[in-house]
Amino acid sequence: MKNLIAVGTLAALAAFALAAQAQQQRGQQQGAPPPQGVGAASTDPGAGFGPAQLTTFKVRDNFYMIRNGQSGNCSVLIADDGVVLIDNKFEMDHDAIMTKLREITDKPVLYVINTHMHGDHSGGNAKKQELGAKVIAHENARFQMAMTQTKGLPTITLEDHMRLYHGEFILDIYWLGRGHTDGDIVVHLPNQNMIFMSDLFATWDPYVTLIDYPGGGSLREWTRTLDRALALPFTTVIPGHGGATDRAHLETYKAQLTRMQDMVREMNRSANCGRRGLAPADAAACATKSREGIQKMLETEFGWSGFVTTLGLDGVIREMQ
Ligand SMILES: [Zn+2]
Repeated sequence: MKNLIAVGTLAALAAFALAAQAQQQRGQQQGAPPPQGVGAASTDPGAGFGPAQLTTFKVRDNFYMIRNGQSGNCSVLIADDGVVLIDNKFEMDHDAIMTKLREITDKPVLYVINTHMHGDHSGGNAKKQELGAKVIAHENARFQMAMTQTKGLPTITLEDHMRLYHGEFILDIYWLGRGHTDGDIVVHLPNQNMIFMSDLFATWDPYVTLIDYPGGGSLREWTRTLDRALALPFTTVIPGHGGATDRAHLETYKAQLTRMQDMVREMNRSANCGRRGLAPADAAACATKSREGIQKMLETEFGWSGFVTTLGLDGVIREMQ
């Protein structure tokens, strides 16, 4: 059963990415203003959701992002002996990523870090392993991946923290708690004042918060996880999707999650379906009506639809009692 849910999740993610891209293209056709990319918007033409075509952005010396709107960011950190990739998109993106990578360096890929198990971040693992790369992920992410695939599994995992020394970069990899899934890791670069947030911070426009409950996600815990990240020293933030941005943007994102928590909790409370004395049939009818109301609120206030709702709705109602 869990297997089927996980497969469904991965397929749904692909659909989500394509739907979001279509939404972005519609926005462009209508001459809509560019997505709110905060500070990055002025310097990075791909800020916000991302360009349609795979595009390389130089963020600083020895650090590039290979991006498009269809899947997660692929970040490239270059040292003398090779390259570390943070996420590597879908399997179908492998050849194009390698072509883009070879335009900036001929060094081998030493490590691929999967920020979490979703296929738009970890899909190219097996092909990178064939080239000699080692894949690093959280133990929970590897567990989820092992449910659905036999190749491309990470061979190095962490529980709470590990450190990778890579040229000028120190990569402090942390698991700070649940949120988008139960296996998202953040990568902190203390020397560069930078943090990679996985899909704990994905700057879709509008913000569409995917809480993957079958994948261990949690709205209730997500804000605490972000608090732990915000306690680290950094100025530049790399989201799981979207261009490089700043700390204030991440704080805004967290405030949206807090607002979602409060609104769901308040609607649960005012429906009060579990109150004493309600006959079981009436309690069930009340819960159904309340669920419909919360779904509508999440659609209008937070842009939920399709499988974002399917994966998240009952979980948030259950958690925010
Ligand atoms: Zn994801």
